[in-house]
Amino acid sequence: MDNQGDSLQELSEKLFRLHFKISEYLKETEKKIETIKSKYEPRNQFNAWRNSQEGKQWKEEQYKRQNKCCPICQQPILSLKGSHIDHIKPLSTHPHLALNTKNMRITHGTCNILRRHQIEN
Ligand SMILES: [Zn+2]
Repeated sequence: MDNQGDSLQELSEKLFRLHFKISEYLKETEKKIETIKSKYEPRNQFNAWRNSQEGKQWKEEQYKRQNKCCPICQQPILSLKGSHIDHIKPLSTHPHLALNTKNMRITHGTCNILRRHQIEN
């Protein structure tokens, strides 16, 4: 009888350790899923595109197409440095347009921030 008691004890300890291992494993898996998800998050996708060669080239070309002018305040954008790429239909409501250049324009940094502030409030 004593032996049976011991083995039950052992069994429950084994089960406990197994359960612990499984929860640790699940936690690790969830972390990996979050990392993968964040890579495909619209804002991150856009940032990656903006920093790419293609994005930089688009910005140069778009700057010329807009005659170096800010479509929000109609004033000249003196330098691309400090300018922003504005999503006409905001990312928050139109995440599927994150990389659609037809939905993008170059604005002053301040104009973009003010506009976003107005949309969000
Ligand atoms: Zn402006």
